Amino acid sequence: MNVVNIKDLSPKELEDFIINLGEKPYRAVQLAKWVYKRRVTSFDEMTDLPNGLRAGLGVVAKISYLKPPLERVSSDGTKKYVFELFDGNRIESVLIPENGRATLCVSTQVGCALDCTFCLTGRIGRIRNLDPSEILDQYIGVNNLNNQSITNIVFMGMGEPLDNLESTVKALKTFTNPDFIGFSPKKITVSTSGIVPKIKELGEQISVNLSVSLNAARDDLRDEIMPINKRYPIKELIEESARFPIPKRKTLTFEYVLIENVNDSDEDARRLGELLMGVKCKVNLIPFNEADPLPYKSPAEERVFGFQKALISYGINVRIRKNRGRDILGACGQLAADYPFKNIKPSKFSGKLK
Ligand code: SAH
Ligand code: SF4
Repeated sequence: MNVVNIKDLSPKELEDFIINLGEKPYRAVQLAKWVYKRRVTSFDEMTDLPNGLRAGLGVVAKISYLKPPLERVSSDGTKKYVFELFDGNRIESVLIPENGRATLCVSTQVGCALDCTFCLTGRIGRIRNLDPSEILDQYIGVNNLNNQSITNIVFMGMGEPLDNLESTVKALKTFTNPDFIGFSPKKITVSTSGIVPKIKELGEQISVNLSVSLNAARDDLRDEIMPINKRYPIKELIEESARFPIPKRKTLTFEYVLIENVNDSDEDARRLGELLMGVKCKVNLIPFNEADPLPYKSPAEERVFGFQKALISYGINVRIRKNRGRDILGACGQLAADYPFKNIKPSKFSGKLK
């Protein structure tokens, strides 16, 4: 018989599961409280559930937890957590404390199939998708180890959330359901490299913040550094992103990793400005984080400011993202769960384009 892992079920699926066991729907909410608030590991501890239901659940279901992760602390206070999964694969989460907030960055896949040339996670390829429980357990595991409560969640760790849409949506529903984890959708951001039809599908199922990793303002360059662009070019991507149902008083974000002599010229900034003029959005500039086998460099600070200035002249709200956790390989694009470098494929990038 198939034993169901409770945390792999969305709130709706858990309710259906409980109804199928011949119980009232409110039992699902009671069960969720034990799993997500009190974090018990066995049905026997759920003292407000009837004995019969507890015994039945013990046969058809289980509650699994990830082992406590390995913690590495950066000199800037950022913490990286390496979780070992049941099959020996490893994933990373990052906790970034800043101005009274604590943002948790979660992974959605072991590795990533999308092969962006500047990203270490991409260099290991996709090993497998995470189950919803493995996404939720990163939050629970990090929470258990920290006194400071997590205020924001970003799906910006290893993997492409929209290449694992089903688990991502189920985890989002559990995060945001008030009877489950009860996190405000305004405090959750999903980041994508731009799988256009999946952006639409995500928006049909949930409203959270969306961050789109643009990283180039010309299709020829984006094709080269983000191969997904060959299927879904920039114009389509921006149009679909602009239709996404962002929560009220929140704004669509575009991320732009600045790579020296690749996409960091004033001309690139002008093209980006023209593309985004009239789109309600903000732009986050991320100076490239260097990591050993990646063949790029971070631009000098003046270039980053120069790029920002050129973009601001288009009336766009532009912020420079601080690089946090670089010394522990915990910054954007550096997450590879300490995978051995022999897994790393050489970059396909052939140098600066015209
Ligand atoms: N796959 C999703 C979610 C991962 S988020 C996505 O790509 O959006 C990872 C973010 O880090 C993306 O914005 C990506 O463009 C950025 N990134 C990747 N490699 C980087 C690097 N070496 N330095 C800085 N940012 C990087
Ligand atoms: Fe995957 Fe995002 Fe890295 Fe690209 S940037 S390889 S989509 S994790």
